[in-house]
Amino acid sequence: MHELSIVESIVRIAEEQAKKFGSQRVSRIEMEIGKCSGIEMDAFDFAWTEAIKGSCLDTSVREVIMIEAKSKCSSCQTVFSVENIYDICPECGEICCDLVQGKELKISSIEIEEPVLSEKPMNYV
Ligand SMILES: [Zn+2]
Repeated sequence: MHELSIVESIVRIAEEQAKKFGSQRVSRIEMEIGKCSGIEMDAFDFAWTEAIKGSCLDTSVREVIMIEAKSKCSSCQTVFSVENIYDICPECGEICCDLVQGKELKISSIEIEEPVLSEKPMNYV
């Protein structure tokens, strides 16, 4: 499944980041997903639940920012919102329009949980 391999690579990036800061956990992850990125959100959610089990993202808060898709008309230069990449220009009806926004799929921020410096019980005696 396409979504699963994407989620797996996100988990891998998050683990690398956490490791870099000597932590085992990511407390919050924020992603930007374009409406025309080809991601099926239901499949993505399902893959997410499966892939994060036992990983550093297991208890993290996930935020997804959906990015509106926009095309630019190649003849009249109008920029307009689209539902899919084949939408035509609302101004002149041109069918050759370039998607200028909406294919995003990226991690916009990762918050790493503070590493636990010592797990030894404190001795107060
Ligand atoms: Zn146009």
